[in-house]
Amino acid sequence: MTKQDGKCSLLPYDVEEVVSLQSAEQKIGWGITAFDLPKAWETTQGEGVKIAVLDSGCDLDHPDLAANLLPGMNMINPKLTAHDDNQHGTHVSGIISAVNNDIGMVGVAPKSKIIPVKVLDKNGNGSLSNVSKGIRWAVDNGADIITMSLGAPRPLQSVRKSIQYAYKKGVPCFVAAGNAGKTKEVFYPAAYPETIAIGSIDSNFKRSDFSNTGKNLDFMSPGGKIFSTVPDNWYAFLSGTSMACPFAVGVAALLLSCSRKSNSKIEIKSVNDYRELLKQGTIPIKNKNYAGKKFFEGFGIIDPRKFTEWANTH
Ligand code: CA
Repeated sequence: MTKQDGKCSLLPYDVEEVVSLQSAEQKIGWGITAFDLPKAWETTQGEGVKIAVLDSGCDLDHPDLAANLLPGMNMINPKLTAHDDNQHGTHVSGIISAVNNDIGMVGVAPKSKIIPVKVLDKNGNGSLSNVSKGIRWAVDNGADIITMSLGAPRPLQSVRKSIQYAYKKGVPCFVAAGNAGKTKEVFYPAAYPETIAIGSIDSNFKRSDFSNTGKNLDFMSPGGKIFSTVPDNWYAFLSGTSMACPFAVGVAALLLSCSRKSNSKIEIKSVNDYRELLKQGTIPIKNKNYAGKKFFEGFGIIDPRKFTEWANTH
């Protein structure tokens, strides 16, 4: 097997609990509440922003997601839809964009749109070639932002070339840092400087034990015990940097949507513009024992409570 034929996988995650839709009534996730997102939604809910989710696909009929899905692509078999035969991709998609209605849960940017790009199979594995093609397809088909809760502990050079293509076009690739705990390096492709690498915090605002550490870590977001959509009208609590990454993407979608308003003071033209804006809205993790903060928490926790400030002062 050559490097070009190598594989990468969704990041292993913990299933905490699976819940049926019959439990009705929309739950508001701890991250939504902790960061007072309904306040940001008074300015924007992510309308007009298209996010490509490169993952195991998405449940195209989920009642809490279907209204926010755009046509996607199945890179593994282009004759098929981007349906989700795992559950990971549907969970990630819900965290970004589940509809604000009276069922299930609500996404961080509940009026943003998802472009599901299936690059991982039912076991959560995907070829580097399909991931690379998926990134280019997403850029060429109008994605504003790409999110990838996948990776491997070794360099993925062919995937990096596609990420650099996206980077040059100003399309940021947010990538989950990995769930291997205290490491010297976050996983790839999160470790590449062209991506924005996201680690996980729990509801006590501490770094999740599983969250990878390393010098290329950028930010932290909620990834512990996150409630979101899974296929066939179900919901589940999952934990992982896979859940933290789409939360950060939802915040980025709010920023982009806001920047497009005619009176906006926010200007976003490049991947570094996203990084710089998000850097200005971070808070440190509640743990003074970390020697070398950048290694453990990147620039800190993305805090969307700063949103109104960003919207009015940039
Ligand atoms: Ca909902």
